[in-house]
Amino acid sequence: MDYIVLISAVIIGAGIAYFFQNNSKFSKRLLMFSAGLLLAITVLDMFPLLFQSGETNAGIWIIIGVGTQLLLEGLSKGIEHGHLHSSNDHTHNVIPLSVMLGLFIHSFLEGTPLEVHHHHMHTHEVHEPHLHSSNILWALSIHKVSETIVLSTFLFSLNIKKIFAVSILILFAVSAPIGAFFGSFLAPNVYPKILGIVAGIFLHISSVIIFESNEKHSLDWQKLLLVFSGMFLGFLIS
Ligand SMILES: [Zn+2]
Ligand SMILES: [Zn+2]
Repeated sequence: MDYIVLISAVIIGAGIAYFFQNNSKFSKRLLMFSAGLLLAITVLDMFPLLFQSGETNAGIWIIIGVGTQLLLEGLSKGIEHGHLHSSNDHTHNVIPLSVMLGLFIHSFLEGTPLEVHHHHMHTHEVHEPHLHSSNILWALSIHKVSETIVLSTFLFSLNIKKIFAVSILILFAVSAPIGAFFGSFLAPNVYPKILGIVAGIFLHISSVIIFESNEKHSLDWQKLLLVFSGMFLGFLIS
Protein backbone atom coordinates (compact mmCIF):
# COMPACT_ATOMS: atom_id res chain seq x y z
CA MET A 1 0.00 0.00 0.00
CA ASP A 2 2.70 2.51 1.02
CA TYR A 3 4.71 1.67 -2.07
CA ILE A 4 1.72 2.14 -4.35
CA VAL A 5 0.92 5.56 -2.86
CA LEU A 6 4.53 6.73 -3.22
CA ILE A 7 4.84 5.54 -6.83
CA SER A 8 1.43 7.04 -7.71
CA ALA A 9 2.62 10.39 -6.32
CA VAL A 10 5.50 10.38 -8.81
CA ILE A 11 3.20 9.35 -11.69
CA ILE A 12 0.76 12.16 -10.80
CA GLY A 13 3.61 14.69 -10.53
CA ALA A 14 5.06 13.65 -13.90
CA GLY A 15 1.58 13.79 -15.46
CA ILE A 16 0.96 17.30 -14.15
CA ALA A 17 4.34 18.46 -15.48
CA TYR A 18 3.69 16.85 -18.86
CA PHE A 19 0.13 18.03 -19.47
CA PHE A 20 0.21 21.44 -17.79
CA GLN A 21 3.68 22.59 -18.75
CA ASN A 22 2.67 26.24 -18.89
CA ASN A 23 0.77 26.28 -15.65
CA SER A 24 3.36 26.76 -12.96
CA LYS A 25 0.82 28.54 -10.77
CA PHE A 26 -0.73 25.27 -9.70
CA SER A 27 2.68 23.77 -8.91
CA LYS A 28 3.62 26.79 -6.80
CA ARG A 29 0.38 26.55 -4.86
CA LEU A 30 0.80 22.84 -4.26
CA LEU A 31 4.35 23.49 -3.09
CA MET A 32 3.19 26.03 -0.48
CA PHE A 33 0.48 23.72 0.77
CA SER A 34 2.82 20.71 0.96
CA ALA A 35 5.39 22.75 2.89
CA GLY A 36 2.83 23.66 5.56
CA LEU A 37 1.62 20.07 5.80
CA LEU A 38 5.15 18.64 5.95
CA LEU A 39 6.15 21.09 8.68
CA ALA A 40 3.07 20.26 10.76
CA ILE A 41 3.51 16.49 10.45
CA THR A 42 7.22 16.81 11.30
CA VAL A 43 6.61 18.79 14.48
CA LEU A 44 3.30 17.28 15.57
CA ASP A 45 3.84 13.62 14.65
CA MET A 46 7.51 12.83 14.16
CA PHE A 47 8.98 14.88 17.00
CA PRO A 48 6.71 13.40 19.70
CA LEU A 49 7.30 9.89 18.34
CA LEU A 50 11.05 10.50 18.41
CA PHE A 51 11.15 11.98 21.90
CA GLN A 52 8.91 9.23 23.31
CA SER A 53 11.09 6.51 21.82
CA GLY A 54 13.62 6.67 24.65
CA GLU A 55 16.41 7.71 22.29
CA THR A 56 18.73 9.80 24.49
CA ASN A 57 20.26 11.87 21.69
CA ALA A 58 16.97 12.55 19.95
CA GLY A 59 17.63 16.25 19.29
CA ILE A 60 21.12 15.58 17.94
CA TRP A 61 19.68 13.36 15.19
CA ILE A 62 17.35 16.14 14.05
CA ILE A 63 20.35 18.48 13.75
CA ILE A 64 22.22 15.79 11.81
CA GLY A 65 19.20 15.54 9.49
CA VAL A 66 19.25 19.28 8.81
CA GLY A 67 22.99 19.05 8.12
CA THR A 68 22.51 16.06 5.82
CA GLN A 69 19.91 17.93 3.77
CA LEU A 70 22.20 20.98 3.54
CA LEU A 71 24.92 18.75 2.08
CA LEU A 72 22.50 17.01 -0.30
CA GLU A 73 21.28 20.37 -1.60
CA GLY A 74 24.86 21.13 -2.60
CA LEU A 75 24.45 18.23 -5.02
CA SER A 76 20.81 18.52 -6.03
CA LYS A 77 20.68 22.34 -6.37
CA GLY A 78 17.29 22.50 -4.72
CA ILE A 79 14.98 20.26 -6.77
CA GLU A 80 13.48 18.84 -3.57
CA HIS A 81 12.35 22.25 -2.39
CA GLY A 82 10.72 23.31 -5.58
CA HIS A 83 13.12 24.64 -8.19
CA LEU A 84 16.52 24.19 -9.72
CA HIS A 85 19.08 26.87 -8.95
CA SER A 86 20.68 26.73 -12.38
CA SER A 87 24.43 26.81 -12.65
CA ASN A 88 26.35 29.05 -15.07
CA ASP A 89 27.78 26.32 -17.29
CA HIS A 90 24.35 24.95 -18.02
CA THR A 91 24.31 22.82 -21.17
CA HIS A 92 20.89 21.83 -22.38
CA ASN A 93 21.36 18.17 -23.06
CA VAL A 94 23.30 16.91 -20.08
CA ILE A 95 21.77 15.88 -16.80
CA PRO A 96 24.15 16.76 -14.01
CA LEU A 97 24.93 13.46 -12.32
CA SER A 98 25.36 15.23 -8.99
CA VAL A 99 21.79 16.56 -9.17
CA MET A 100 20.42 13.05 -9.65
CA LEU A 101 22.66 11.58 -6.96
CA GLY A 102 21.63 14.21 -4.40
CA LEU A 103 17.97 13.77 -5.25
CA PHE A 104 18.04 9.96 -5.09
CA ILE A 105 19.81 9.89 -1.71
CA HIS A 106 17.30 12.46 -0.42
CA SER A 107 14.37 10.42 -1.73
CA PHE A 108 15.75 7.14 -0.40
CA LEU A 109 16.21 8.62 3.09
CA GLU A 110 12.73 10.12 3.27
CA GLY A 111 11.24 6.70 2.55
CA THR A 112 13.04 4.93 5.41
CA PRO A 113 10.74 5.78 8.36
CA LEU A 114 7.55 4.58 6.66
CA GLU A 115 7.49 0.85 7.26
CA VAL A 116 9.41 0.45 10.46
CA HIS A 117 7.28 1.25 13.39
CA HIS A 118 4.57 -1.14 12.36
CA HIS A 119 7.03 -3.68 13.73
CA HIS A 120 8.99 -1.96 16.45
CA MET A 121 7.47 1.15 17.88
CA HIS A 122 4.36 -0.36 19.41
CA THR A 123 6.46 -1.66 22.29
CA HIS A 124 6.56 1.95 23.54
CA GLU A 125 3.60 3.94 24.74
CA VAL A 126 2.76 5.35 21.34
CA HIS A 127 -0.91 5.40 20.53
CA GLU A 128 -2.10 4.10 17.21
CA PRO A 129 1.27 3.86 15.48
CA HIS A 130 -0.49 3.02 12.21
CA LEU A 131 -2.27 6.34 12.15
CA HIS A 132 0.98 8.26 12.64
CA SER A 133 2.82 6.27 10.04
CA SER A 134 0.13 6.98 7.46
CA ASN A 135 0.29 10.71 8.30
CA ILE A 136 3.97 10.71 7.37
CA LEU A 137 3.06 8.79 4.22
CA TRP A 138 0.43 11.33 3.09
CA ALA A 139 2.57 14.36 3.87
CA LEU A 140 5.51 12.75 2.10
CA SER A 141 3.40 11.82 -0.93
CA ILE A 142 2.10 15.36 -1.46
CA HIS A 143 5.69 16.58 -1.11
CA LYS A 144 6.69 13.92 -3.70
CA VAL A 145 4.15 15.26 -6.20
CA SER A 146 5.71 18.76 -5.93
CA GLU A 147 9.20 17.34 -6.13
CA THR A 148 8.34 15.29 -9.23
CA ILE A 149 6.77 18.29 -10.99
CA VAL A 150 10.06 20.18 -10.65
CA LEU A 151 12.16 17.18 -11.70
CA SER A 152 9.93 16.34 -14.69
CA THR A 153 9.70 19.94 -15.90
CA PHE A 154 13.49 20.05 -15.81
CA LEU A 155 13.87 16.69 -17.60
CA PHE A 156 11.32 17.57 -20.31
CA SER A 157 13.15 20.86 -20.95
CA LEU A 158 16.38 19.06 -21.79
CA ASN A 159 17.30 17.82 -25.23
CA ILE A 160 17.46 14.18 -24.25
CA LYS A 161 15.71 11.06 -25.50
CA LYS A 162 12.26 10.47 -23.98
CA ILE A 163 13.22 6.98 -22.88
CA PHE A 164 16.14 8.45 -20.93
CA ALA A 165 13.92 10.97 -19.13
CA VAL A 166 11.36 8.27 -18.34
CA SER A 167 14.06 5.93 -16.98
CA ILE A 168 15.25 8.65 -14.60
CA LEU A 169 11.67 9.21 -13.44
CA ILE A 170 11.23 5.47 -12.86
CA LEU A 171 14.45 5.36 -10.85
CA PHE A 172 13.23 8.35 -8.85
CA ALA A 173 9.81 6.72 -8.33
CA VAL A 174 11.31 3.57 -6.81
CA SER A 175 13.92 5.31 -4.63
CA ALA A 176 11.56 6.14 -1.74
CA PRO A 177 9.91 2.67 -1.75
CA ILE A 178 13.39 1.10 -1.73
CA GLY A 179 14.20 3.34 1.26
CA ALA A 180 11.02 2.16 2.98
CA PHE A 181 11.93 -1.46 2.25
CA PHE A 182 15.42 -1.05 3.75
CA GLY A 183 13.91 0.83 6.67
CA SER A 184 11.75 -2.14 7.56
CA PHE A 185 14.90 -4.11 8.47
CA LEU A 186 16.31 -1.49 10.84
CA ALA A 187 16.98 -2.61 14.41
CA PRO A 188 14.59 -1.07 16.98
CA ASN A 189 17.36 1.05 18.51
CA VAL A 190 18.42 2.43 15.11
CA TYR A 191 14.92 3.44 14.04
CA PRO A 192 14.62 6.59 16.23
CA LYS A 193 17.95 7.85 14.89
CA ILE A 194 16.73 7.53 11.29
CA LEU A 195 13.39 9.08 12.26
CA GLY A 196 15.31 12.04 13.73
CA ILE A 197 17.43 12.47 10.59
CA VAL A 198 14.37 12.40 8.32
CA ALA A 199 12.51 14.81 10.64
CA GLY A 200 15.50 17.16 10.31
CA ILE A 201 15.39 16.82 6.52
CA PHE A 202 11.66 17.63 6.47
CA LEU A 203 12.10 20.54 8.87
CA HIS A 204 14.78 22.07 6.66
CA ILE A 205 12.97 21.55 3.33
CA SER A 206 9.64 22.91 4.52
CA SER A 207 11.30 25.98 6.06
CA VAL A 208 13.30 26.64 2.89
CA ILE A 209 10.19 26.34 0.69
CA ILE A 210 8.33 28.84 2.86
CA PHE A 211 11.35 31.16 3.00
CA GLU A 212 12.21 31.07 -0.71
CA SER A 213 8.60 31.64 -1.74
CA ASN A 214 8.78 35.07 -0.21
CA GLU A 215 12.32 36.31 0.22
CA LYS A 216 11.17 39.92 0.40
CA HIS A 217 9.05 39.16 3.46
CA SER A 218 6.03 40.97 2.14
CA LEU A 219 2.70 39.68 3.37
CA ASP A 220 1.42 37.60 0.47
CA TRP A 221 -1.90 36.45 1.85
CA GLN A 222 -2.59 33.94 -0.88
CA LYS A 223 0.68 32.13 -0.25
CA LEU A 224 0.33 32.38 3.51
CA LEU A 225 -3.20 31.02 3.34
CA LEU A 226 -1.93 27.95 1.46
CA VAL A 227 0.85 27.38 4.01
CA PHE A 228 -1.60 27.81 6.88
CA SER A 229 -4.12 25.39 5.33
CA GLY A 230 -1.36 22.80 4.97
CA MET A 231 -0.45 23.30 8.62
CA PHE A 232 -4.07 23.13 9.66
CA LEU A 233 -4.63 19.85 7.79
CA GLY A 234 -1.49 18.48 9.49
CA PHE A 235 -2.89 19.57 12.85
CA LEU A 236 -6.24 17.89 12.11
CA ILE A 237 -4.76 14.52 11.17
CA SER A 238 -1.94 14.45 13.74
ZN1 LIG B 1 16.31 26.93 -3.35
ZN1 LIG C 1 11.71 14.89 -0.95
